[in-house]
Order: sequence, then structure tokens, then C-alpha cells
Amino acid sequence: MSLPTVTPAARLPSPLRDEAPVVQARLAALAGALDWAGVQALARPWVQAVRDEPAPFWAMESLLREYPISSAEGLALMRLAEALLRVPDAATAIALTADQLGRADFEAADGDGPHKMLASLSASAIALSKRFLPDGEHPPGLLQRLGAQTVVAATVRAIQLLGRQFVLGQSIGEALGEARSQRKAQPQLRFSFDMLGEGARTAHDAQRYLRSYRDAIAAIAAAAVAGAGPEANDGISIKLSALFPRYEDSQRARVFAELLPRVLGLVDDAAAADINLTVDAEESDRLELSLELIDAAAEHIAAHHPHWRGFGLAIQAYQTRAEECVHEVARIARAHGLRFMVRLVKGAYWDGEIKRAQELGLAAYPVFTHKHHTDISYLACAKALLDHADVIYPQFATHNAGTVAAIVQMARVRRAPFELQRLHGMGEGVYREIGRSEPLPLRIYAPVGEHRDLLAYLVRRLLENGANSSFVHQLADPQVDVDALLASPLQAAPEPGQPSPLRLYGRARRNALGVDLSIAAERAPLLAAVAATRVPQVAETPVSDIDATMRLLHAGQVAWNDTPLAERAAVLLRAADRLEAELPAWCGLLVKEAHKTLGDCVAELREAVDFCRYYALQAQDTLGPRELPGPTGESNTLHLHGRGVFVCISPWNFPLAIFAGQVVAALVAGNSVAAKPAEQTPAVAQRFVGLLHAAGVPQDALALLHGPGETVGAALVAHPLTAGVCFTGSTQVAKLIQRALAAKDGAIVPLIAETGGLNAMVVDSSALPEQVADAVVQSAFRSAGQRCSALRLLCVHEGIADGVIAMIGGALQELAVGDPADYATDVGPVIDAEAHAAITRHLERLDREATLLARRALPDGPAGAQHIAPCAYELARVADLRQEVFGPVLHVVRWGPGTAARGGAADVEALVGQINALGYGLTLGVQTRIDSRAQRIAHAARVGNVYVNRNMIGAVVGVQPFGGEGLSGTGPKAGGPLYLYRFCAEQVVTVNTAAAGGNAALLAGAH
Ligand SMILES: Cc1cc2nc3c(=O)[nH]c(=O)nc-3n(C[C@H](O)[C@H](O)[C@H](O)COP(=O)(O)OP(=O)(O)OC[C@H]3O[C@@H](n4cnc5c(N)ncnc54)[C@H](O)[C@@H]3O)c2cc1C
Repeated sequence: MSLPTVTPAARLPSPLRDEAPVVQARLAALAGALDWAGVQALARPWVQAVRDEPAPFWAMESLLREYPISSAEGLALMRLAEALLRVPDAATAIALTADQLGRADFEAADGDGPHKMLASLSASAIALSKRFLPDGEHPPGLLQRLGAQTVVAATVRAIQLLGRQFVLGQSIGEALGEARSQRKAQPQLRFSFDMLGEGARTAHDAQRYLRSYRDAIAAIAAAAVAGAGPEANDGISIKLSALFPRYEDSQRARVFAELLPRVLGLVDDAAAADINLTVDAEESDRLELSLELIDAAAEHIAAHHPHWRGFGLAIQAYQTRAEECVHEVARIARAHGLRFMVRLVKGAYWDGEIKRAQELGLAAYPVFTHKHHTDISYLACAKALLDHADVIYPQFATHNAGTVAAIVQMARVRRAPFELQRLHGMGEGVYREIGRSEPLPLRIYAPVGEHRDLLAYLVRRLLENGANSSFVHQLADPQVDVDALLASPLQAAPEPGQPSPLRLYGRARRNALGVDLSIAAERAPLLAAVAATRVPQVAETPVSDIDATMRLLHAGQVAWNDTPLAERAAVLLRAADRLEAELPAWCGLLVKEAHKTLGDCVAELREAVDFCRYYALQAQDTLGPRELPGPTGESNTLHLHGRGVFVCISPWNFPLAIFAGQVVAALVAGNSVAAKPAEQTPAVAQRFVGLLHAAGVPQDALALLHGPGETVGAALVAHPLTAGVCFTGSTQVAKLIQRALAAKDGAIVPLIAETGGLNAMVVDSSALPEQVADAVVQSAFRSAGQRCSALRLLCVHEGIADGVIAMIGGALQELAVGDPADYATDVGPVIDAEAHAAITRHLERLDREATLLARRALPDGPAGAQHIAPCAYELARVADLRQEVFGPVLHVVRWGPGTAARGGAADVEALVGQINALGYGLTLGVQTRIDSRAQRIAHAARVGNVYVNRNMIGAVVGVQPFGGEGLSGTGPKAGGPLYLYRFCAEQVVTVNTAAAGGNAALLAGAH
């Protein structure tokens, strides 16, 4: 399939724009279109009637009011709902139930139904956990276990009950049956079936979802009324992320080659049956890609099914470019002579969108930050959809009575056909009342699937029902009066509802500006810079020059140390701004010299910027003179100053961030710096040194010394003027430096060493396999495994090991291995031939001693010459992992009672003991839904950074100060509040203020 020359994406505005003007534009589009008093008059009786006559499932909504998701009880409920049904083993299920119910206080609530059930359940769970599981983990005896299992079984049933409210059937047959029976009472009711599940992580998952969609369409088609058309028949909703594991902008070539044909196959089936097929809306960074797919699908439909009017998609009003998206979809339909069915929703991933923008340091949020701005956008989009009635059949999906009434008002004027939609299990009361007064077509979005597949969906619904700002939540709260519930949203808020992603750290420190690579216009300057970059040659420093340079730096340190702290800090801030401004050029150099992928380059540059800003702030806050308390008649002042010449030796894997972090920390503390970069990456270092000089660091306070560690590095460490060494690299070299420093005559020279790790991830059987697979693939294979924080050893509970290993194996096959200059590449080459040879030797040993679980095929020819295929091997025991191997090689061990006979760890305590015994202590991943277990593991583990339920790489300056203990380093942690002190010498000046004959201050202050 050839890509269209002018893509729909190119027609959309950037999502990175200010919210306020967008809101004004939406309000302007709505000017005169709505009479809100009329809207309230229409909706008031619906709302009043619902409150007077609660719906059958009312209890769920009031349950969430009673236990809001912000409370311990609400959170416990959600956690259990998310995890309990998938836990395979009784011990973990008991621990999870005791952990979650034990911390909550369900007894506080009164009432009937689920309240009472949960209250009594939790009471017995708490009692049981207190009696049988005194410290929450030790295996109970048989009798106790039986008691605890009864509680767990009852809790499982309660969760299933909760889940059943949102699922129409466990199979499409069952769901169609249920739909039939609901139609007996309401013959006009239509359904859009949704086959539940997480997004696919593997090709196998994607095929499974494809089959389930095909089967569902066949079943819906068989039940459809011939000739009735898509408006009058049931339909299907599909998620593109379920049909393809890499539904991402970076993989667009594969998306069109592999995903599009699957979509077209489903389109053919739905068109043949003349039913509605809707493409669900997912995360905002997929919007452009999804529109291009829709365009391509439209071309296919125009060619093969020109009379079919059932193709559709969902548009999310919470996106700031939703209205432009509506116009674009109308344009596509018109261009192909089609009519689309467009479902307008507000959007289900608001929290995730806000988090992503903050993490990436984006210039703006892609979504509105006030709930009523989303409501304004929804109404503006609704108006636009109704105005495109010639090519769009609008499907308004909302549970908000005010929103429905506003739509009804606008549609009456235009007389355009449309339908309303709600989710199964939600909004029943409101729609019952709407149905009584306005007989409008209504379609129910009806999830279909087994309990295990329901969990993620269930949590989204719990969040939606439980959020304070949500209409259903407020409707259930009698404290909110009807006028407030139906208040007009039609005014802009004066302030953004969230601080800008760049103001995440408050006013004092700006977050480093990032790039959204999924936006072509943002990506283009980086790609251009990569293409234009040639790596400059950097001359090696002759060893004979080192002494002169050290003398120069030694002399220069005096004046630099005397430079006011504020000025030294200002130099760092200027450097940060310049780095940010030159982002594309830096990415070009990082790709070409260090073989980094584009995403890694942006992250690295941002880390360097953060280091500069963070240390500048820390220095000003903590390094100034400090008055100390003491007896009257004297003053005691602590002063910090630079130690002298600091030697900074950094590695190639973060040639900018680690290099910059070491150098600017030493400088801002008042040291001069002899900076020795890794031999593989001197050009990045040279450029950064140039940038610092341009930002105001004197030439005699900072010098670059490039050359081999054995000669240049060793000479620097051994030099008599060296006042401190800051080193990041292997444990082996750190030891050599330590010995060299100890062997020197003269002053005792401090060493700050950050070295490697045998980093493990502990996964218990309450973990979500999809989340584990994501975290493992990112942690083990991103940057080709060449991070000190990278995951080396996955320890997975035997109860879920087979499934998790299969999923990781499948996900690993989906990685794009190739040239880092290519935007699509996930895994680039390793740094050099020497590294390649060392990893290859390790793999040969693994081939003899371990079991190969999965290996990604390499690209053919020279493109793959310096690549190592991402792979995973199973070891029998933790202790079998003996050395850190800096490459995309994952080792896996199983743990659990069944592994003990083979030397495996029977329980999590034993496992952590085995990991500690490796002697390293850098990072640890933990994947569990048992909060107390996560805390206990963190407490027992002798490591510097513990990451619970996420990946374990990408520590952020000032947020996750980074560094370990034991064989992993000396501390203090880089990017942490204690780091700068280590670069300082301390001096206390004590002055006898009474020396001149008496204590004037004391006497003057006496009464
Ligand atoms: C039939 C149907 C199909 C659906 N399909 C999809 C789909 O394909 N993709 C998808 O993403 N969602 C989908 N949804 C879910 C939908 O997004 C939510 O159900 C909907 O947002 C809830 O809106 P409401 O009008 O019912 O409730 P309201 O309470 O009026 O609105 C709640 C919504 O407002 C938004 N919001 C909340 N807080 C803020 C804030 N601080 N700032 C800005 N906005 C905020 C969020 O979108 C939130 O969901 C679907 C819903 C239905 C009914």
C-alpha cells in the first residue's frame, strides 16, 4: 500500500500549543449555538427522576462514592479488581487479599448490597490476616490456609460480580443472547461489541485478537437484519493496538504493511454484512497514524464497497485538536465519496496523557486540563459533526445528561440524524429517562470477554465512575445539587488546570524541554541534523602534556573558586539553555558517534540539561556559608569550597549526560576539572567542553584530555595535583583507580565511583504479564542493553513464568534492530568490535550452560555487523549469573516453592537474599500488586534504586538520584541532594567575638 502524498497528519495542527486560545476558538465556534437555560430545562427532569428512582446497578456508583478512589478503601477495591482474578496460586492470592483489604476500613461504611458484602469480607480478611498471616507473608498451616482461601474465594466472587456489571457476556454468543433479551424490553436498542483484552504485545496475541474480531463479526452478521443497514443493526468496535503489537508512529512502514491488511480484512467482512465497524480512539500520539490508516481504509472502501455506510471511528474531545480532527475526517469521507459513522467521546486516557507529557517534557499537553474545557470541546465537535451531516452520521457517546441535552438542542435546529451511545453498565438511569422523553436511537458499547481480560477495562471504568469531576460520580452524590450538576461549562478557566510540563519542578527549576518524536514536524530537524553530522576528529592528549595542563588547572582553580557561587551557578544555567537550543545538533552527534537511537539521544540531552539546572540550584541552596549554633561570644561559620583539580573520567554509554553531570558538579562546587572522556566518544565531550567555555567557564578551569585510560587516565589519577576523582565505568577500573590513589604519597584523595550492576527484576504472580513484558523489553534491550541500570536478571514466579517468558519472547521478536539513524530502530549496534566480541564470548558460554528462550533475528549484511541480537536465556539459579555483560542479553530464573529443590528461591525473601549475595547493588525492579511486599523487598534489597511496577532505566535528575552500593559504587548519588558535598572541602571559621574585652552583643540584648 503506497502512502498518500499529502498525509492527513500534515493537515492537523501540532498538539503542542497553548490551551487558552484553543478554548476561545471553541467557544467562538459555539457562539449563539446553545441556549443553556433550555439545556438545563431539558435535562433537569431526567436528573431528578434518576435521583428519585435509582437504577438497578446504582449500588456500584454509590459504592464508589462511599469509597472514593482517592481513599485507601477505594484504592484497595481497584487494586483487587485489577489483579486478584489473574493470580494463579493460593499463597499469592491470600497475600494480595490480606494486603489490600487489610489496609482499608470497609467497616466504616453502612448500607446494603456490595457495601455490606465488602465490609464483612474485609472484616474477616483482616481478622484472618491478623490470625494466620502475622507478618503478612509466611505460609499458614493447613487449617488457617483453608480459612484464608475461603475469604479469597468470596472476594473473587465479589470482584466477578463487579466485573459482570460491565461485561455483556463472556463470549460473543452469550453477549448476542443478552442483547436479544434486552431488546425484548427496548426493541430500538443497538449494540457495538468490543472484544476485551490488553493491547497485543506479540504477533501471536495480534492473531488471536484478529480471529476473535472476525468470529465476532461473523456472529453479529448472522444475527443482523438483512437490509436494515448499519444504523439499525448491531456493530463492532475494534482497537488497532490489539491487532498489531507495534501500532506506533515509529513503525509506520510495518503498520501499513501488516496492520492495514488486517483492518481491511475486517472492513471487508463488516461491509459484506453491512454493519457498523468503529475504530476505537486510543492514545493521542497515535492520532496522526490512525488518520492515515483511516484514509487508506477509505480508499479501499471506495474501491470495493462504495455503498457501505458503516465504517467509522471514535474522536476524543479532550484532545486540543479534536475539532480539526472532525473536519479532517469529514474531508477524508468527502474525498472518497463515503459516509462515516463518527463516535464522539470525551476520552478515556486523560491521566496517562498528562503523565506522558510531563515525562517527555513537552511544551504543552495534547489534552485540555480542565474538565469543562473538554465539555466545551465536545459541544464544539458535536456542532461540527452535525454540520457535516452529508458525510457523517454522528454517534454521541456520553453519560452526561447536560451534554446529551445540549446535543438534542443543537440537533433539533439542524434536523440531522444521529444516535446516542453509552457503555454497558453505565448511565442506565439517565438513558431510561431520556428514552421516556426523547425517543432517540441508542447504542450500547458492550464489552465481551472472560474475566481475566476484563481487568484493565474494569479499572478504567472504576476510575471513570470514581473521579470527582465525572458526571456519573456527581449524579450519585446527593450533596451536589441539580443546578450545580447541570451548570454551564461554557466559559474559559483563567488558569491552566495543570502546571505546564516544563514547570513540573515548580518555579525554581525548569524541566528540560523534550521532543515528541511521534510528530513528524518535531522529528524533522533531528533527522536533518543526523544526516548532516560528521564526527570531528579529536586529537589525543600526549601524556607528556598532562603535567602542564594539571598545573594550569591547579592555578586556575583559585580564581574560579573565588568566583561568586551565584556566578558559577549562572554559567551552568547558560549551558543548560544552550544545550536545549542546540538539541538537533547534539542528537546528530550522539547518533553518529555513540550509535544512539533518536529517543535515547533526546533523553540523554534532557538529562544533561537537568544536571546543569539541578546542580546550579543545589549549589545555591546548599553550598553557601552556614552559621552554626554555639555559645554566646563567638561565631561559627561553615564554608564549603572546591578541593582543587578534580579528575572526571566518564564512559561512552552516556557520553553527554554522565560527562556533563560529573564536570558541572565539580565545577559548580569550585573545582577546576581535568575531563577525560571515553576513548570511543571524545567528540561529544569536546563539544560540551567548548559549550561550557562559551558559557563562561575559564579556559584554565576546565580542560579536555582525550586518550586511553591506561595512559592518559592513569597519569591523571596518579598526578600529585589531583585533588579528587569522579569515575563512572566498570567495577574493575574503579578498583584500579582506588588502588592507584591509595598508593600515592601525599594527601588522601577522595574517589566517587559509579560502577555497574547485576540488576534484577523480581516478578511475583500478582504482576500483570503485559506490564512485565513492557518493562523487561525496555529495561533489558533499550540502548542495546548498554546502560548500567539495565535489567540483566529477570526472576519470575513459577506460577506465571511460562506465559511471561512466551510474551517477552514474542515482544522481543517485534523489536526493530538496525541503524540508529533510522527513526524506526529500537536497538542499535553495540559500541565497538571489542564489546561485540566480549558479548559474543558470553553468549557462547550461555549456549553451553543455559537454555535459549528467544533470540531476535539480525538484519542481514553489514547493517547487522556490530549488532548483537536481543536474546533471553534461562539459568537454573541466580548465582549462575556471575558477571555484568553490557549488551542486549537477558537472563531469566524462575522462583517459587517448586524451584527450591533445584537451588531456586522458595520465596521472595530467599530470592532477595540470593540477589544481594551477588554483591552488586545498583537497580532492582519489582513487579507485584502486593504493596507491603514491594516495600519489604525494597527494604531488604541492598541496592541504590528500586523501581516498582515500571521499567528500571532512565533515572531522572532530582527525581530518582542515581547510584548504588557494594560492587556498584561508592555514592553519593548523581542527581541527588547529597552529591555536591562530596566535591567540596569544608572549613569552619570560629571567631571569638568577645575577644576585644567583652560580649557586646550579649550585653546589648539583655533586659
Ligand atoms: C459508547 C462509548 C464508547 C467509547 N469509546 C471510547 C474510545 O474509543 N476511546 C476513548 O478514549 N474513550 C472511549 N469512551 C470512554 C469515554 O471517553 C468516557 O466514557 C467518557 O470520557 C466519559 O465522558 P462522559 O461524557 O460520560 O462523562 P463526563 O463526566 O462528563 O466527562 C468525563 C471526561 O471528562 C474528561 N476529563 C476529566 N477530567 C478532566 C480534566 N481535568 N481536564 C480535561 N478533561 C477532563 C475525561 O475525558 C473524562 O473521561 C467511550 C465511551 C462510550 C460511552
